[in-house]
Amino acid sequence: MNRKKSIETINSYDGYWDILVIGGGATGLGCALDAASRGYKTLLVEQHDFAKGTSSRSTKLVHGGVRYLQQGNISLVLEALHERGLLMQNAPHLVQNQAFIVPNYEWWDGPFYGVGLKVYDLLAGRLGLGPSKWLSKAETLKRIPTLEPDQLRGGVIYYDGQFDDARLAVNLAQSIEDAGGVPINYMQVTGLTYSGKMIDGVKLKDTIDGGEREVHARVVINATGIFTDDILRMDQPTATPIISHSQGVHLVLDKRFLKGSTAIMVPQTEDGRVLFAVPWHDRVLVGTTDTPVDRASLEPRPLEEEIAFILKHAAQYMVEDPTRADILSVFAGLRPLVGEGEGKKTATISRDHHLAVSQSGLVTITGGKWTTYRKMAEDTVNQAALIAGLPESECRTRKLRIHGWLKNMDPEDPLCAYGSDAVFIRRIIESDPGMGEKLHDHLPYVKAEVVWAVRHEMALTLEDVLARRTRSLILDASASMDIAGASADLMAKELGLGSQWQQQQVSEFKQLAGGYLPDCCG
Ligand SMILES: Cc1cc2nc3c(=O)[nH]c(=O)nc-3n(C[C@H](O)[C@H](O)[C@H](O)COP(=O)(O)OP(=O)(O)OC[C@H]3O[C@@H](n4cnc5c(N)ncnc54)[C@H](O)[C@@H]3O)c2cc1C
Repeated sequence: MNRKKSIETINSYDGYWDILVIGGGATGLGCALDAASRGYKTLLVEQHDFAKGTSSRSTKLVHGGVRYLQQGNISLVLEALHERGLLMQNAPHLVQNQAFIVPNYEWWDGPFYGVGLKVYDLLAGRLGLGPSKWLSKAETLKRIPTLEPDQLRGGVIYYDGQFDDARLAVNLAQSIEDAGGVPINYMQVTGLTYSGKMIDGVKLKDTIDGGEREVHARVVINATGIFTDDILRMDQPTATPIISHSQGVHLVLDKRFLKGSTAIMVPQTEDGRVLFAVPWHDRVLVGTTDTPVDRASLEPRPLEEEIAFILKHAAQYMVEDPTRADILSVFAGLRPLVGEGEGKKTATISRDHHLAVSQSGLVTITGGKWTTYRKMAEDTVNQAALIAGLPESECRTRKLRIHGWLKNMDPEDPLCAYGSDAVFIRRIIESDPGMGEKLHDHLPYVKAEVVWAVRHEMALTLEDVLARRTRSLILDASASMDIAGASADLMAKELGLGSQWQQQQVSEFKQLAGGYLPDCCG
């Protein structure tokens, strides 16, 4: 995947694209892959980097959602469990089976959650990942030796999927290209164009060189997540906002706080939220919160009380109480919830997706979850193809292997997340053994991964490499700042850029990374 090549393709084509997708998060990438794989001429434009928005800030679960089961939203759980199974088959290099334990501290916890999780197993059907069962206190502590043992009665174990969200986004962008579509980052939609009253294209601004252009399409899909209303207002300045934003924060801690490979799931904290502590890339991810916010932002900031909330509740379930000093990184994401929940707590607004068509023919898809991105895309492209009058073509993504597809990767292999591309990264190291050097003692990444990200994953900035191609920023914000200079140096050589570019990148990245340190927050 190469940005110059995408620009050349865009510039050299002055006809109509069949489908143009705005937004390079889970939803937009899914739509573009669905469209391209049906044979439609497809362009996807993302204003920043792929998954810069909500799609790199999730809990990293491919799940039916035990919480939605509690809320009685059976159809959402059924759909998500089905999609979980498909994604495990289509991206086995990125999605793993993850065991969770619901710890029981009250006598009724065991029967209550035991029965609920049996229903969860049943709904998953043949795509189930393993049967849930009740565990004694000794069995529970054997699996999670660092779980708070005081008053513990046992636990209920169940299984869900876990993945790397930003890596999946990059692989989806590559898959779009593999299927004949064109994905491009740092290309912002600044306006819509019309033929009569119907939308027939978009105005684009290249945020790297400032260049502006117009492209035309038979149908435009608005998949801009928390920015959905901005595009709707470009089309109809008086449009009523449909999105509510709910912020979720995660803390990243050292693995010693959750030994073993089993995650903790607390279905209900004292204010009714779900709390997860999940092993991820040899760290522990703890979260999340559900705080209504009134503004969309690509870099939302965690609130002091959200950090305090997570630390307090994590301490109830961990033998060693984590403190602020133990936080390696803290990150926030905004959920794009379809806001029929005026006056409702955001935790109770539906996570179902919302598909709508404006009078101008603009197709808007929003809400949903990472887990259900493929189904959302299928529904959206079915609708978009009808509106555009495209020749009928069936959805092909149910069994489409996502770029990097490789089964039975060794989870201990540090290049595991690259799947079938790992072999090419090894070749870079073979031709220059210095490329095999680790960037930092506290991070799993080697120099060759920076080079690979620039050459084949459309990484253009230091942030792209350290936040999303590698996950350095969220695994250890301070370590990611330490490697900024060396990584910028490697990138500059690849991109043919000078020391001024390097200095600017390092300074911008350090400023950004400061916001992921625990003492950042407002
Ligand atoms: C805290 C948290 C935890 C979550 N955990 C999970 C989980 O564990 N599992 C799960 O399944 N789901 C989870 N979700 C939900 C999931 O992350 C989201 O549903 C999903 O990422 C939304 O993707 P999206 O593409 O709609 O939005 P985004 O990822 O925000 O993508 C929209 C994109 O549109 C781009 N854009 C906006 N305006 C323009 C423009 N004018 N021109 C070009 N591009 C534009 C933005 O830059 C952005 O990249 C979680 C969400 C949150 C907040």
